[in-house]
Amino acid sequence: MQTTISKPLQFVEGDGMLHGFSTGFVSVKSTFKTAKGGQQISKLHFLLDKKWTPWLPIWVWVIEHPEGVFVVDTGENARVTQPDYFQQEGIVLSYINTRTFRFQVSPEQEVGAQLKALGYSQQDIHKVILTHLHLDHFDGLHYFDETDILVHDYEWQHPSFALPSLYPNWFEPKITKLQVDKQAIFSRKHYLTESKEIQLVHTPGHTKGHCSVLLQTKELDYFLAGDTTYNQAQLLQEINAGGHQSFKLAQKTYSNIKNYALQRQVVYLPSHDGDCATRIAEDAYLRV
Ligand SMILES: [Zn+2]
Repeated sequence: MQTTISKPLQFVEGDGMLHGFSTGFVSVKSTFKTAKGGQQISKLHFLLDKKWTPWLPIWVWVIEHPEGVFVVDTGENARVTQPDYFQQEGIVLSYINTRTFRFQVSPEQEVGAQLKALGYSQQDIHKVILTHLHLDHFDGLHYFDETDILVHDYEWQHPSFALPSLYPNWFEPKITKLQVDKQAIFSRKHYLTESKEIQLVHTPGHTKGHCSVLLQTKELDYFLAGDTTYNQAQLLQEINAGGHQSFKLAQKTYSNIKNYALQRQVVYLPSHDGDCATRIAEDAYLRV
C-alpha cells in the first residue's frame, strides 16, 4: 500500500500542492467497518466480533494553497500502542477501545515528523482542520500548540464517542459555525479561503457534526472525506459502517457526495482508504 503522495495543484491565484501521508495503521473489527444489523444492534456486533480488518492507513492531508498551508486531521501518535493508553477514560471506554481498534504507529510516522520531512514547521501551518473528534483524527494535536485548530460547532458541542482526556491540556479549538445555503448540494458549509477554493462541508452520519474538506482546483476537485465512509466502494454501494452514529444521515451524505460527483470531477479520499494515493496519482475521479 502506498502511504505517501504529493500532487501539484493549480489554483486561480497560483500553484499549490496536495500532500498525503499515513500516520501508521489501524485495524478495526470488521463489523465496525461494515455494519451488521441496524444502527443500534451493529454496535453490539462489533464488540462481539472476532474478525479484524486488514491494516488500514490513517491519512493526514496537507494543502499548500496561495492563502496558506492547511492540515486536515492530525492522525495517530505512537503512544496509542501502550496498553494503558485509554485508562484515563475509565473501564468501559477503555474496554471498548481496546476491543474495537488495534494500532501500529511509530514516532517517525506521527504528523510532526512527517511534516518536518516535507520541510514544514508548525509556524508554516496556517490552520489545522479536524473532520471530527475521533481519536485517530485528533491524536497528533500535540504538535500544534500554537496553531489555529478548527472544529465544527456541532461536533464540539455534541461529540460522539469522544475521548477528551486524550486532548492536549491546552486544546481550545476555534469553533466553526457553518453557513446555510439551501441551493447548494452541501447546504451547510464554511469557506476556509477567500478564493472559496477550500471549504468545510457538513457531511453528517459517521458523527452528527462530521465535516469533510472540499478542495477545488483548476483541474479536479478533491474530497477529503474523513470517515464519511471507510473506502470508495462503501460510498458507491451505500454501505453503512457499524461505527456510524446515524445511518439515516450517512445515507443522505452519500447521496449528496454522489450528486456532487455528477456535477464536478472529484477525487474521493476517505481517511482509511488504502487506494487514496493511487487515486490521486491517476486522477481517478469518482464515477457514479
Ligand atoms: Zn471516526
